[in-house]
Amino acid sequence: MRFFLMPAWYHVSMRILEGSDLAQAHKYFESVAKIAMKALCKRDKCGAVIVSNGMIIGEGYNAPPNDNIVDAKCTCEYPEHLKKPKSDRTCCMHAEWRAILDSLKKGNDLKGSVLYFGRIDDQGNLLPSGEPYCTVCSRLALDTGIAEFVLEHSDNIVAYETKEYNEMSYEFHKQ
Ligand SMILES: [Zn+2]
Ligand SMILES: [Zn+2]
Repeated sequence: MRFFLMPAWYHVSMRILEGSDLAQAHKYFESVAKIAMKALCKRDKCGAVIVSNGMIIGEGYNAPPNDNIVDAKCTCEYPEHLKKPKSDRTCCMHAEWRAILDSLKKGNDLKGSVLYFGRIDDQGNLLPSGEPYCTVCSRLALDTGIAEFVLEHSDNIVAYETKEYNEMSYEFHKQ
């Protein structure tokens, strides 16, 4: 993965997972891939799980609101000047929002929890994640007290502090 120039004040604190942390992460990414199979979005199939104290407290996949296909906006076309940032291609509920809402609906506290996010191909295999870029999810994760955001990249699995994930997501769109 590429690293970008962060503001001078910013202390980069991403952690490349190793040992038992890495083994745990692989296990949670299996759950991510499984939940992503339920995705109803026509553009992408994504999954997210939120873990607190070793337990999955919430999970989500991307789909139209309430899973109602009649409300799907996946195939909407917009004029070029109205194109939204890549972070939200204006169609479905993001898997991360769903996982956060799922946790909250079940009465769980998100403080200090860890969110694992991934995308799958048509065969259900996890695809390597790129750099953090979704500012909608990063803001929501920061606001709800999620401590870390974990992504599986092509050569490693990285845990980002949510504050860092949020900063990196905004920086992504300045490039
Ligand atoms: Zn969609
Ligand atoms: Zn998102």
